[in-house]
Amino acid sequence: MIALLVASLGSAPANALNRGSGSSSVPTQHGLAQTMFRLDEQMDMYERPDLLDAALEEIPLQELHAAAEASVQANDVPGYEDGLANALVKWFKKDYFKWVDPIKCPSCGGKTEYREMGAPTAEETQGGAGRVEVHACAEGSNCSGVFRFARFNDPKALMKGPRVGRCGEFANLFCLFIRAVGLRARYVWNLEDHVWDEYFSPTLGRWIHLDPCEGARDEPLLYDKGWGKKMSYVLAFAIDGAKDVTRGYVQDWNATLTRRTRGSEEALHQVLTDVTKRRRLGLPSSEVKRLEIEDQVEAKWLSESEDRAKSPQAIDGQGRESGTADWKQERGEDGAK
Ligand SMILES: [Zn+2]
Repeated sequence: MIALLVASLGSAPANALNRGSGSSSVPTQHGLAQTMFRLDEQMDMYERPDLLDAALEEIPLQELHAAAEASVQANDVPGYEDGLANALVKWFKKDYFKWVDPIKCPSCGGKTEYREMGAPTAEETQGGAGRVEVHACAEGSNCSGVFRFARFNDPKALMKGPRVGRCGEFANLFCLFIRAVGLRARYVWNLEDHVWDEYFSPTLGRWIHLDPCEGARDEPLLYDKGWGKKMSYVLAFAIDGAKDVTRGYVQDWNATLTRRTRGSEEALHQVLTDVTKRRRLGLPSSEVKRLEIEDQVEAKWLSESEDRAKSPQAIDGQGRESGTADWKQERGEDGAK
Protein backbone atom coordinates (compact mmCIF):
# COMPACT_ATOMS: atom_id res chain seq x y z
CA MET A 1 0.00 0.00 0.00
CA ILE A 2 2.75 2.41 0.99
CA ALA A 3 4.77 1.52 -2.07
CA LEU A 4 1.73 2.17 -4.24
CA LEU A 5 1.07 5.49 -2.60
CA VAL A 6 4.64 6.63 -2.99
CA ALA A 7 4.89 5.34 -6.53
CA SER A 8 1.77 7.28 -7.47
CA LEU A 9 3.59 10.48 -6.50
CA GLY A 10 6.01 9.84 -9.25
CA SER A 11 9.11 11.66 -8.20
CA ALA A 12 9.78 10.07 -4.81
CA PRO A 13 11.83 6.85 -4.75
CA ALA A 14 9.71 3.75 -4.17
CA ASN A 15 11.53 2.96 -0.96
CA ALA A 16 11.39 6.54 0.32
CA LEU A 17 9.97 5.54 3.67
CA ASN A 18 12.65 3.00 4.29
CA ARG A 19 15.41 5.48 3.87
CA GLY A 20 16.65 6.27 7.33
CA SER A 21 19.27 8.55 5.87
CA GLY A 22 16.55 10.77 4.43
CA SER A 23 18.54 11.19 1.28
CA SER A 24 16.49 11.66 -1.85
CA SER A 25 19.46 11.50 -4.17
CA VAL A 26 19.77 7.75 -4.42
CA PRO A 27 22.85 7.10 -6.56
CA THR A 28 21.93 5.98 -10.02
CA GLN A 29 23.68 4.11 -12.79
CA HIS A 30 25.72 7.28 -13.28
CA GLY A 31 27.79 6.21 -10.32
CA LEU A 32 28.46 7.69 -6.94
CA ALA A 33 30.20 10.86 -8.08
CA GLN A 34 27.27 13.20 -7.55
CA THR A 35 26.62 11.88 -4.06
CA MET A 36 30.31 12.30 -3.27
CA PHE A 37 30.41 15.90 -4.47
CA ARG A 38 27.30 16.74 -2.45
CA LEU A 39 28.73 15.18 0.72
CA ASP A 40 32.09 16.88 0.24
CA GLU A 41 30.31 20.23 -0.06
CA GLN A 42 28.27 19.48 3.06
CA MET A 43 31.48 19.46 5.14
CA ASP A 44 31.82 23.25 4.79
CA MET A 45 28.57 23.61 6.71
CA TYR A 46 30.12 22.12 9.85
CA GLU A 47 32.73 24.90 9.91
CA ARG A 48 30.19 27.76 9.95
CA PRO A 49 30.72 29.91 13.08
CA ASP A 50 26.98 30.65 13.44
CA LEU A 51 26.14 26.94 13.49
CA LEU A 52 29.01 26.07 15.84
CA ASP A 53 27.87 28.82 18.25
CA ALA A 54 24.28 27.55 18.11
CA ALA A 55 25.49 24.02 18.78
CA LEU A 56 27.53 25.13 21.80
CA GLU A 57 24.39 26.59 23.34
CA GLU A 58 22.86 23.11 23.28
CA ILE A 59 25.82 21.09 24.56
CA PRO A 60 26.44 20.68 28.33
CA LEU A 61 30.19 21.15 27.91
CA GLN A 62 31.16 21.08 31.58
CA GLU A 63 29.26 17.87 32.19
CA LEU A 64 30.86 16.22 29.15
CA HIS A 65 34.36 17.30 30.12
CA ALA A 66 33.82 15.91 33.62
CA ALA A 67 32.69 12.60 32.13
CA ALA A 68 35.71 12.57 29.80
CA GLU A 69 38.05 13.19 32.73
CA ALA A 70 36.43 10.39 34.73
CA SER A 71 36.72 7.89 31.86
CA VAL A 72 40.42 8.73 31.45
CA GLN A 73 40.96 8.23 35.20
CA ALA A 74 39.16 4.87 34.99
CA ASN A 75 41.27 3.82 31.97
CA ASP A 76 38.11 3.26 29.93
CA VAL A 77 39.41 5.18 26.91
CA PRO A 78 42.78 5.65 25.21
CA GLY A 79 42.88 9.44 25.68
CA TYR A 80 40.99 12.55 26.74
CA GLU A 81 39.48 13.23 23.29
CA ASP A 82 38.19 9.66 23.16
CA GLY A 83 36.50 10.17 26.50
CA LEU A 84 34.97 13.41 25.25
CA ALA A 85 33.68 11.77 22.06
CA ASN A 86 32.24 8.95 24.14
CA ALA A 87 30.49 11.30 26.57
CA LEU A 88 29.13 13.36 23.65
CA VAL A 89 27.67 10.41 21.75
CA LYS A 90 26.07 8.93 24.88
CA TRP A 91 24.52 12.26 25.87
CA PHE A 92 23.30 12.94 22.33
CA LYS A 93 21.44 9.64 22.07
CA LYS A 94 20.17 9.43 25.65
CA ASP A 95 19.24 13.02 26.43
CA TYR A 96 19.20 15.16 23.33
CA PHE A 97 17.95 13.66 20.07
CA LYS A 98 15.21 11.05 19.68
CA TRP A 99 14.46 8.41 17.08
CA VAL A 100 11.21 9.45 15.41
CA ASP A 101 9.55 6.04 15.16
CA PRO A 102 7.02 4.93 16.20
CA ILE A 103 5.22 8.16 15.40
CA LYS A 104 2.38 8.89 17.82
CA CYS A 105 -0.69 10.90 16.90
CA PRO A 106 -0.10 14.46 18.18
CA SER A 107 -3.85 14.81 19.05
CA CYS A 108 -4.73 11.56 20.83
CA GLY A 109 -1.38 9.83 21.32
CA GLY A 110 -2.55 6.79 19.37
CA LYS A 111 -1.04 5.00 16.40
CA THR A 112 -0.44 6.68 13.09
CA GLU A 113 0.01 5.43 9.57
CA TYR A 114 2.09 6.86 6.78
CA ARG A 115 -0.15 8.85 4.43
CA GLU A 116 2.02 10.47 1.77
CA MET A 117 5.12 12.44 0.86
CA GLY A 118 3.91 16.03 1.22
CA ALA A 119 5.21 19.28 -0.13
CA PRO A 120 7.11 21.28 2.50
CA THR A 121 5.54 24.45 3.93
CA ALA A 122 7.44 27.76 3.65
CA GLU A 123 8.85 27.25 7.14
CA GLU A 124 9.86 23.67 6.40
CA THR A 125 11.54 24.78 3.18
CA GLN A 126 13.47 27.40 5.13
CA GLY A 127 14.80 24.63 7.36
CA GLY A 128 16.10 22.88 4.31
CA ALA A 129 13.41 20.20 4.16
CA GLY A 130 12.99 19.03 0.60
CA ARG A 131 10.55 16.33 1.62
CA VAL A 132 7.97 15.87 4.34
CA GLU A 133 6.48 12.56 5.44
CA VAL A 134 2.84 12.96 6.42
CA HIS A 135 1.68 10.50 9.09
CA ALA A 136 -2.04 10.52 9.97
CA CYS A 137 -3.90 9.18 13.01
CA ALA A 138 -4.92 5.54 12.57
CA GLU A 139 -7.22 5.35 15.59
CA GLY A 140 -10.51 5.94 13.76
CA SER A 141 -12.46 8.58 11.94
CA ASN A 142 -13.07 10.90 14.91
CA CYS A 143 -9.42 11.96 15.21
CA SER A 144 -7.81 14.09 12.55
CA GLY A 145 -4.32 14.24 14.09
CA VAL A 146 -1.49 14.58 11.59
CA PHE A 147 2.27 14.49 12.23
CA ARG A 148 4.46 16.08 9.58
CA PHE A 149 7.96 14.61 9.68
CA ALA A 150 10.03 17.12 7.76
CA ARG A 151 13.40 15.75 6.71
CA PHE A 152 15.38 18.87 7.66
CA ASN A 153 18.91 19.29 6.34
CA ASP A 154 19.68 22.50 8.22
CA PRO A 155 21.22 21.74 11.64
CA LYS A 156 19.56 24.92 13.01
CA ALA A 157 16.14 23.54 12.12
CA LEU A 158 17.08 20.23 13.74
CA MET A 159 18.09 22.02 16.96
CA LYS A 160 14.96 24.21 17.00
CA GLY A 161 12.42 21.56 16.04
CA PRO A 162 11.08 18.57 17.99
CA ARG A 163 14.65 17.09 17.87
CA VAL A 164 13.62 13.84 16.26
CA GLY A 165 14.89 12.02 13.24
CA ARG A 166 16.32 8.91 11.70
CA CYS A 167 19.98 8.30 10.99
CA GLY A 168 20.17 11.12 8.40
CA GLU A 169 19.19 13.75 10.94
CA PHE A 170 21.26 12.13 13.71
CA ALA A 171 24.50 11.97 11.70
CA ASN A 172 24.05 15.44 10.24
CA LEU A 173 23.49 17.30 13.50
CA PHE A 174 25.96 15.17 15.43
CA CYS A 175 28.73 15.91 12.95
CA LEU A 176 28.32 19.59 13.83
CA PHE A 177 28.36 18.77 17.56
CA ILE A 178 31.66 16.86 17.20
CA ARG A 179 33.17 19.97 15.61
CA ALA A 180 31.58 22.20 18.26
CA VAL A 181 33.39 20.43 21.11
CA GLY A 182 36.65 20.93 19.24
CA LEU A 183 37.21 17.50 17.73
CA ARG A 184 37.83 16.83 14.05
CA ALA A 185 34.87 15.19 12.37
CA ARG A 186 34.03 12.99 9.42
CA TYR A 187 30.60 12.29 7.97
CA VAL A 188 30.34 8.66 6.90
CA TRP A 189 27.94 7.57 4.16
CA ASN A 190 26.92 4.01 3.33
CA LEU A 191 25.13 3.05 0.14
CA GLU A 192 22.90 0.61 2.04
CA ASP A 193 21.06 3.49 3.68
CA HIS A 194 22.95 4.28 6.84
CA VAL A 195 25.05 7.27 7.81
CA TRP A 196 27.13 7.93 10.91
CA ASP A 197 30.19 9.96 11.97
CA GLU A 198 33.79 9.62 13.03
CA TYR A 199 36.14 11.74 15.13
CA PHE A 200 39.91 11.89 15.02
CA SER A 201 41.68 10.47 18.05
CA PRO A 202 45.03 12.22 18.61
CA THR A 203 46.02 9.43 21.02
CA LEU A 204 45.39 6.64 18.51
CA GLY A 205 46.42 8.75 15.52
CA ARG A 206 43.44 7.75 13.41
CA TRP A 207 39.73 8.25 12.77
CA ILE A 208 37.31 6.45 15.10
CA HIS A 209 33.77 5.25 14.44
CA LEU A 210 31.07 7.23 16.30
CA ASP A 211 27.38 6.45 15.70
CA PRO A 212 24.89 8.81 17.36
CA CYS A 213 21.85 6.59 16.54
CA GLU A 214 23.38 3.77 18.53
CA GLY A 215 25.40 5.73 21.06
CA ALA A 216 28.38 3.68 19.85
CA ARG A 217 32.08 4.56 19.80
CA ASP A 218 34.82 2.55 18.12
CA GLU A 219 32.66 -0.40 17.06
CA PRO A 220 33.26 -0.37 13.31
CA LEU A 221 32.04 -3.94 12.83
CA LEU A 222 28.72 -3.17 14.51
CA TYR A 223 26.82 -3.17 11.20
CA ASP A 224 28.38 -6.13 9.44
CA LYS A 225 29.10 -8.42 12.38
CA GLY A 226 26.41 -7.09 14.71
CA TRP A 227 23.39 -6.25 12.59
CA GLY A 228 24.24 -8.63 9.75
CA LYS A 229 24.14 -5.72 7.28
CA LYS A 230 25.63 -6.43 3.86
CA MET A 231 27.46 -3.27 2.85
CA SER A 232 29.18 -2.34 -0.39
CA TYR A 233 30.40 1.26 -0.16
CA VAL A 234 31.30 3.20 2.97
CA LEU A 235 32.75 6.64 2.21
CA ALA A 236 34.05 9.20 4.71
CA PHE A 237 34.13 12.97 4.22
CA ALA A 238 36.19 15.46 6.19
CA ILE A 239 37.07 19.11 5.70
CA ASP A 240 40.50 17.96 4.52
CA GLY A 241 39.63 15.08 2.23
CA ALA A 242 37.41 12.15 1.31
CA LYS A 243 38.18 8.47 1.66
CA ASP A 244 36.86 5.01 0.91
CA VAL A 245 36.77 3.41 4.37
CA THR A 246 34.62 0.40 3.48
CA ARG A 247 37.29 -2.10 4.35
CA GLY A 248 37.41 -0.96 7.98
CA TYR A 249 33.70 -1.65 8.38
CA VAL A 250 33.42 -5.13 6.84
CA GLN A 251 34.59 -8.63 7.76
CA ASP A 252 35.11 -10.04 4.29
CA TRP A 253 36.64 -7.65 1.79
CA ASN A 254 36.50 -10.01 -1.19
CA ALA A 255 32.78 -10.67 -0.67
CA THR A 256 32.27 -6.93 -0.34
CA LEU A 257 34.03 -6.31 -3.64
CA THR A 258 31.49 -8.49 -5.45
CA ARG A 259 28.73 -6.14 -4.24
CA ARG A 260 30.49 -3.05 -5.59
CA THR A 261 28.78 -2.51 -8.92
CA ARG A 262 28.50 1.29 -9.06
CA GLY A 263 31.18 1.98 -11.61
CA SER A 264 34.85 1.05 -11.70
CA GLU A 265 37.10 1.04 -8.65
CA GLU A 266 39.49 3.33 -10.56
CA ALA A 267 36.78 5.93 -11.17
CA LEU A 268 35.81 5.88 -7.49
CA HIS A 269 39.41 6.24 -6.42
CA GLN A 270 39.89 9.12 -8.87
CA VAL A 271 36.94 11.12 -7.52
CA LEU A 272 38.11 10.65 -3.93
CA THR A 273 41.67 11.63 -4.85
CA ASP A 274 40.46 14.74 -6.69
CA VAL A 275 38.24 15.83 -3.82
CA THR A 276 41.09 15.33 -1.34
CA LYS A 277 43.60 17.22 -3.50
CA ARG A 278 41.23 20.16 -3.84
CA ARG A 279 40.57 20.21 -0.09
CA ARG A 280 44.30 20.33 0.65
CA LEU A 281 45.16 22.98 -1.91
CA GLY A 282 46.61 26.02 -0.19
CA LEU A 283 47.36 24.26 3.09
CA PRO A 284 50.93 24.73 4.34
CA SER A 285 53.17 21.88 3.18
CA SER A 286 53.84 20.79 6.77
CA GLU A 287 50.09 20.37 7.25
CA VAL A 288 49.75 18.37 4.01
CA LYS A 289 52.63 16.17 5.15
CA ARG A 290 50.93 15.53 8.47
CA LEU A 291 47.68 14.58 6.71
CA GLU A 292 49.56 12.21 4.44
CA ILE A 293 51.07 10.44 7.43
CA GLU A 294 47.55 10.08 8.82
CA ASP A 295 46.49 8.61 5.46
CA GLN A 296 49.22 5.99 5.75
CA VAL A 297 48.28 5.06 9.30
CA GLU A 298 44.68 4.69 8.20
CA ALA A 299 45.57 2.61 5.13
CA LYS A 300 47.36 0.16 7.40
CA TRP A 301 44.44 0.08 9.84
CA LEU A 302 41.97 -0.54 6.99
CA SER A 303 44.06 -3.40 5.63
CA GLU A 304 44.00 -5.15 9.02
CA SER A 305 40.22 -5.20 9.34
CA GLU A 306 39.80 -8.88 8.51
CA ASP A 307 42.15 -9.88 11.32
CA ARG A 308 40.22 -7.73 13.74
CA ALA A 309 36.96 -9.31 12.57
CA LYS A 310 38.20 -12.77 13.51
CA SER A 311 38.48 -11.98 17.18
CA PRO A 312 35.24 -12.25 19.20
CA GLN A 313 33.61 -8.93 19.98
CA ALA A 314 30.91 -7.61 22.19
CA ILE A 315 28.84 -6.62 19.19
CA ASP A 316 28.60 -10.13 17.70
CA GLY A 317 24.96 -10.77 16.76
CA GLN A 318 23.89 -7.53 18.42
CA GLY A 319 20.97 -6.10 16.45
CA ARG A 320 20.31 -2.47 15.83
CA GLU A 321 19.05 -0.35 18.74
CA SER A 322 17.40 2.46 16.83
CA GLY A 323 14.12 1.87 14.99
CA THR A 324 11.05 -0.30 15.50
CA ALA A 325 11.33 -4.13 15.42
CA ASP A 326 9.42 -4.48 12.12
CA TRP A 327 11.52 -1.85 10.42
CA LYS A 328 14.81 -3.43 11.53
CA GLN A 329 13.64 -6.89 10.46
CA GLU A 330 12.54 -5.59 7.06
CA ARG A 331 15.98 -4.05 6.56
CA GLY A 332 17.77 -7.18 7.80
CA GLU A 333 19.39 -5.21 10.62
CA ASP A 334 18.04 -7.01 13.66
CA GLY A 335 21.11 -9.19 14.12
CA ALA A 336 19.24 -12.39 13.07
CA LYS A 337 21.33 -14.71 10.96
ZN1 LIG B 1 -5.34 10.60 16.87
